[in-house]
Amino acid sequence: MNLEAKKIRLIMKLRRSLVTDTRVLSAIERTPRELFLPKALHERAYEDLALPIDCGQTISQPFVVGVMTQALQVEERMLVLEIGTGSGYQSAILSRLCRRVYTIERYKRLMAQAEKRFAELSLTNITTRVGDGSKGWPEQAPIGRILVTAAAADVPPALADQLDEGGIMVVPVGEEYGNQHVLRITRTAAGFDHEELLPVRFVPLVEGEADSSAD
Ligand code: SAH
Repeated sequence: MNLEAKKIRLIMKLRRSLVTDTRVLSAIERTPRELFLPKALHERAYEDLALPIDCGQTISQPFVVGVMTQALQVEERMLVLEIGTGSGYQSAILSRLCRRVYTIERYKRLMAQAEKRFAELSLTNITTRVGDGSKGWPEQAPIGRILVTAAAADVPPALADQLDEGGIMVVPVGEEYGNQHVLRITRTAAGFDHEELLPVRFVPLVEGEADSSAD
């Protein structure tokens, strides 16, 4: 089966799952996942699996990308902050749904590869930063939507601080390589509402800059 046929089969599978938002499905359909993978894995781009990328990291599973993106309730005029650019796949999908994506990655090498892909796909509304995303992007605060794609033991306090009132953060929380859940956190006038969405396996959110020998 060729990639295009595999892609259609994956979209049909997502459509029958919890991913019902047609804007999200269409953004996934318009984003060639093979472009975000090493050559040797192109054939597997439309399997509904997380797959390995450079620097010991992973590209997220399409189903999880769909559910998390949908849970974020992104609107066209919004800014979205993403923590953990990785391959850039999730950033590319967000960029089709909102005005601008701000995305932070701790590995320079991954960011350089992601930036090339954004240019190739003419995605001009993504602003990148190499550094520790657990500190957020203070210059853009308060921020309406935050998506974290690496798992922390707890919600990073700086990200909660930078979330606007009425804002939504979607974040995997739990043990390193263990029991983790995606949470949707909504900031209200009174505090934060938490909803548990689905069990997941994400690579850990690591505080601090990446080791320069490994970037
Ligand atoms: N959204 C990505 C998923 C990448 S995996 C995709 O679609 O491909 C998570 C990424 O988070 C990894 O690249 C990892 O290096 C990065 N990461 C982990 N801790 C981080 C931190 N504190 N700041 C920024 N990026 C971080």
